[in-house]
Amino acid sequence: MQLLDGKLLSENIKAELAAEVDQIKLKGGKIPHLAAVLIGDNPASQVYVNSKIKSCEQIGFTSTMVRRSGDVSEEEVLEIVANLNNDPDVDGFIVQLPLPKHIDEEKIMLAIDYRKDVDGFHPVNFGRMAQGMPAFLPATPFGILEMLRRYNIETSGKHCVVLGRSNIVGTPISILLSRKGYPGDCTVTLTHSRTQDLPAEVRRADIVVAAIGIPQFVKGDWVKEGAVVIDVGINRIPDASRKSGSRLVGDVDFDSVAPRCSHITPVPGGVGLMTVTALLMNTLKACRKEIY
Ligand code: NAD
Repeated sequence: MQLLDGKLLSENIKAELAAEVDQIKLKGGKIPHLAAVLIGDNPASQVYVNSKIKSCEQIGFTSTMVRRSGDVSEEEVLEIVANLNNDPDVDGFIVQLPLPKHIDEEKIMLAIDYRKDVDGFHPVNFGRMAQGMPAFLPATPFGILEMLRRYNIETSGKHCVVLGRSNIVGTPISILLSRKGYPGDCTVTLTHSRTQDLPAEVRRADIVVAAIGIPQFVKGDWVKEGAVVIDVGINRIPDASRKSGSRLVGDVDFDSVAPRCSHITPVPGGVGLMTVTALLMNTLKACRKEIY
């Protein structure tokens, strides 16, 4: 069994991006600029946004954080989005989800200029992705593709079973892996909460992508010998042996699944770090106007 090391890969990619920034500086070009909007005090959102900003600093990108308290009005958030859309120095930006209940996430997402949508959530980018046109790919699926590519994992003709049909992970990764080319050309089964006999579906998979948000849900006896397992889940569970009283686990029961796999992503240290790195890759593409 080989670990798909998201930490190592993301360090390598970040070093490549930092080298690109050095080249841009030498030529007097524009430094990529990522902005992040953080509303309220959700602890997980704070961790995610801080790690995005810190990664920008590490590689020499410009970054801006726009922060508002949880009682901010929807109008003000729309105004922030409009300002970022119109700011010529900002190449790309994200609005960290979830937003407080009184703010309509769909309305905010639709207000983002798709040419700056480096999270790849806007329907224009989603539609273009689905049709195989150049688009900002959603950051988590883009990170997974990059991981498969850099570990030279064969995907052509493989049977991939995706667990979870969210708009940000399950549905887009199922589209991307079934597209023509590499990584792709898989036969994909997209499963969800209404799927009958999920273990039987997973047993047929050469590649499993788990994105459901239930801790340690996928068990060892569901997984075919030699399968590749991509664990997207990030779940916090109680752990009295830790000083914090808790720890992070994925959607896969690592201890029983890992011995059966050819490759598996750890949690933490797998897909999560690749997601941040993919966002940086999208920001460079935005700055270079590679897509639009
Ligand atoms: P979500 O919470 O929006 O949706 C969950 C999906 O799982 C739904 O499609 C549902 O049908 C399916 N599901 C729920 N119960 C099921 C069951 N018993 N059997 C089969 N399917 C079931 O999903 P999401 O936003 O994609 O998040 C999933 C997990 O991935 C969460 O743990 C989240 O924290 C994590 N996540 C991680 C990253 C990352 O960067 N690593 C990014 C996004 C989400």
